[in-house]
Amino acid sequence: MNLLMQYAKIVFFTGAGMSKESGVPTYRGAGGLWNEYRYQDYACQEAFERDPVAVWEFHDKRRAAAAACQPHSGHHLITRFIAARQAAGKAGGGVTIVTQNIDGMHQRAGAEPVYELHGSLWRIRCDACALVMENRDVPLGGYQHSCGQYLRPDIVWFGDALNRGVLTKVVHAISHCNLFVSIGTSAAVFPAARLPMHAIENGAALIEINPEPTPVSQQYPKHMRGPASAMLAELLGPADPD
Ligand code: NAD
Repeated sequence: MNLLMQYAKIVFFTGAGMSKESGVPTYRGAGGLWNEYRYQDYACQEAFERDPVAVWEFHDKRRAAAAACQPHSGHHLITRFIAARQAAGKAGGGVTIVTQNIDGMHQRAGAEPVYELHGSLWRIRCDACALVMENRDVPLGGYQHSCGQYLRPDIVWFGDALNRGVLTKVVHAISHCNLFVSIGTSAAVFPAARLPMHAIENGAALIEINPEPTPVSQQYPKHMRGPASAMLAELLGPADPD
């Protein structure tokens, strides 16, 4: 039996590093997008109000890049782990994925529930009409809603507040977990970087998966230094052969 089966409630907390092996670039570190683009020009409300077309062109590129990528074995291992726990009779598998990623990769691998702290590239909204819509068109086709206002990606940009409903569910899941596994996050983005504290306060076991140390590594008694796919194979058992 996988040793992780002993934990009743598990949270996988994923960041951009989780999608790196799928080919989705991270924001920071080698090959990171913020080495090439200024977030002040493309990922904040002020930039959108100044130049919505430039902001949309940037996000259209992100959508095209994410659509061309596939979930990797690490995503599938988490999905298989959830299914195994469900089969073992744990309601809902007792596993929650909390992701800072906006690329929908966990869902594409068939995992649920997935709480998206920072929104999704695959939702668009019209703030004037208070409408949120799923949309997977690449390219988007038109940047304006039928009301004439610019649509915007339903993403938490720099300076935006997190969605309160999502945050409440996330804090509840993390506060009640017995095992918290952080995967591929630099812990540089707040308030997401503070969330592991809720697991620590609950006395949960903590594991950090990241090839490099992070500013919060000392909070984790166990570190797995390597790429997400290999470390998840070590933790959850090897991937199924193709
Ligand atoms: P980040 O870009 O700040 O940090 C990425 C982290 O992943 C680093 O600590 C790096 O060492 C680690 N990493 C690199 N390769 C890895 C691998 N193969 N396996 C495991 N870890 C690896 O990412 P962040 O902490 O998530 O914060 C950035 C913000 O931007 C978040 O909101 C994030 O969701 C968003 N973002 C999302 C995507 C996406 O949806 N895929 C991509 C870029 C940024």
